[in-house]
Amino acid sequence: MAANVSLQSQVEELKALDQKHYLHPATSPKKHAEQGPKIIFSGGNGITVRDPNGKSYIDGVSMLWNVNLGHGRKELADAASEQMMKIAYSSSFAGYSNEPAIRLAEKLASLTPGNLNTVFYTSGGSESNDTAFKLARFYWQMQNQPKKKKIISLKQGYHGVTIAAGTATTLTGFHKFAGTHIGDVYHAKPHLTRCELGDKDDPDYKGCIRDIVEKEGPETVAAVILEPVQGSGGVYIPPEGYLKAVRQLCDEYHILFIADEVICGFGRTGRMFGVDHWGVIPDIMCVAKGITSGYVPLGGVLLNQAIHQTLVQYDQVLAHGFTYSGHPTACAVALKTLEILERDQVVAHVKRMEKELNAGLNYLEKKHRIVTKTRNIGLMGAFELYADPDNDTPFDPSLKAGLDVVEECFQRGLLLRALGAADGKNVVAIAPPLIIDKSEIGRMIDIIDDAIHAFETKIGI
Ligand code: PMP
Repeated sequence: MAANVSLQSQVEELKALDQKHYLHPATSPKKHAEQGPKIIFSGGNGITVRDPNGKSYIDGVSMLWNVNLGHGRKELADAASEQMMKIAYSSSFAGYSNEPAIRLAEKLASLTPGNLNTVFYTSGGSESNDTAFKLARFYWQMQNQPKKKKIISLKQGYHGVTIAAGTATTLTGFHKFAGTHIGDVYHAKPHLTRCELGDKDDPDYKGCIRDIVEKEGPETVAAVILEPVQGSGGVYIPPEGYLKAVRQLCDEYHILFIADEVICGFGRTGRMFGVDHWGVIPDIMCVAKGITSGYVPLGGVLLNQAIHQTLVQYDQVLAHGFTYSGHPTACAVALKTLEILERDQVVAHVKRMEKELNAGLNYLEKKHRIVTKTRNIGLMGAFELYADPDNDTPFDPSLKAGLDVVEECFQRGLLLRALGAADGKNVVAIAPPLIIDKSEIGRMIDIIDDAIHAFETKIGI
């Protein structure tokens, strides 16, 4: 009893300190100031995490699509600890280097498709995308085409929140937060294969990538950036042929193709990289998240040989770099993560679990009339909630259907994420750690089933 009281008072103390001193990302500051943190995580093991009272939750979204190998993996902790005892941190500026960063660079070159053989390290996804934009522009300068500066991203795309990446991000709320956006970034309608192949009679043509390139002039466009499968925008899988069509368009107009693999990379979709599904090789690939399974921050920008060969003509200091570029401890954890991915054949496991998740989502769609548009590729999935799915009638936004179902899941010990609320959509994302097994997927689906039922009861259906 006494122990419980002191545990409770510790939790209360932490909550009060959090409210007072901690401004949270992607959280309502007002609500947070009033209510404090929703949960304080105190431990994790495999696909579950727990709070200080010992209540456990299935981590149905791998936290932020990143804890791919699950929680509490000693091998990853040991890799960090061993490297920290050798040399925890060293600079990568001025030609300084370290072994884990070098070995990881070689490993990434061997895992990525085509000749994406050179890496520039960052600390995360936004930094990777900002770096990709800068290097793309710099490449064109080096090619004596300084007018090639424009970046085209896709609507519903998420590329991070730094000013340039945040401009490429199109999600309502994120895009124009505090007026923080730059010029020269254009947002194209996504996933229009026929239009990108040049069908100008298609009624959707206006605003597709090709249309923007032709209007702006290809001599002004540096790069197209897209997520092979759109994640935070709502888990949108492109139609067959789309990525190839964009690749062709980029080749035709000499535009660099940047694949943002921050979520898709390292097995999430059942292939090592998202682009591998469609046999497309980008010129630049941005990675982060799963590269360390989220255990420490790390990102990277992979460049193809042509870009690298151009950059090495430059005989001055490359005026770009982060303190934590090539962080030895982060790179050591990444090497261990990739070793585990290969050793345990995690990507093949994801491919097998894809079917299980798919079956579970289909079950939910059959059972609940309000559930529709279920989809998954590997262990990246979603379902949507509609008042009347047959007529695409959305729920009244005041019901906050997606958020409510996610909250019901939370009450039952499952963490999921609602996406698209700002755009009137009720998408619920599911992206559990890649090590999840069949029965654990079954448990997740049972909880979601129950949670949807609770929502239906609440609204009287
Ligand atoms: N790109 C994609 C596709 C992402 O999903 C994210 C993060 N959700 C980012 C970039 C930004 O990464 P970070 O939050 O590490 O800056």
